Amino acid sequence: MSDHDPVQDAAPAPAGEERHEFGAEVGRLLDLVVHALYSEREIFLRELVANAADASDRRRFEALTDPSRALPDGAAIRIVPDKDTRLLTISDDGTGMSHDELGRYLGTIARSGTRAFGKDITASLADAKPEDRPSLIGQFGVGFYAAFMVAERVEVISRRVGEEDAWRWSSEGQGSYTLSPATRDLPGTDIILHIKADADEFLEPYRLETIVRKWADHITWPITIQRDGQ
Ligand code: ADP
Ligand code: MG
Repeated sequence: MSDHDPVQDAAPAPAGEERHEFGAEVGRLLDLVVHALYSEREIFLRELVANAADASDRRRFEALTDPSRALPDGAAIRIVPDKDTRLLTISDDGTGMSHDELGRYLGTIARSGTRAFGKDITASLADAKPEDRPSLIGQFGVGFYAAFMVAERVEVISRRVGEEDAWRWSSEGQGSYTLSPATRDLPGTDIILHIKADADEFLEPYRLETIVRKWADHITWPITIQRDGQ
């Protein structure tokens, strides 16, 4: 959270890239989520699949009044592990996020579920018994940040339904994130996790399937997990 940013000082940013600092509250939450919940880290997938389903639900709702926003045939939540690149991607056909929404929703804690707990979020998490923390994370709506338990960098490529432009949000979860122009053929969101060296298990399709069965059984959208070589 310091003003001095060695990465930024070292090299000019690529064209069109903006760097933003996280809100202070996000920084504290990230610390807790990443360090206090190590033994529960498989719940990152529950959180990301839930967000994909929420975004798909929201798009279906928006389409009620604006049919041009209708979901494509075969809309689904797609989970794609790639051992060669060590990337795990969770994609959806939901509302997507605009440039400003990416900054607001992924850069600050400004959401209703979270705000209700005010300044107590971090303290409550720290005080909670370890076994209670995953459900607290869900209640607090810090879900997205759970991605940093298993990823050294998280990229989000998103295109808001109704807009032509797509944006890339990227962060190592340490104080700042960047936003830059991107391309995406259709509206929706890709969450791209650069999997940590000690988190190989989350590149295994069968392991991902076990987690989805355990935590995402209630999701009504189809969920696909790509197997190696397919
Ligand atoms: P919550 O889901 O409780 O609001 P999260 O940290 O999980 O908290 O997500 C923060 C916000 O980011 C969501 O409320 C939503 O606005 C946005 N968001 C996250 N993932 C997606 C996604 N796949 N598509 C669209 N918006 C998303
Ligand atoms: Mg969520």
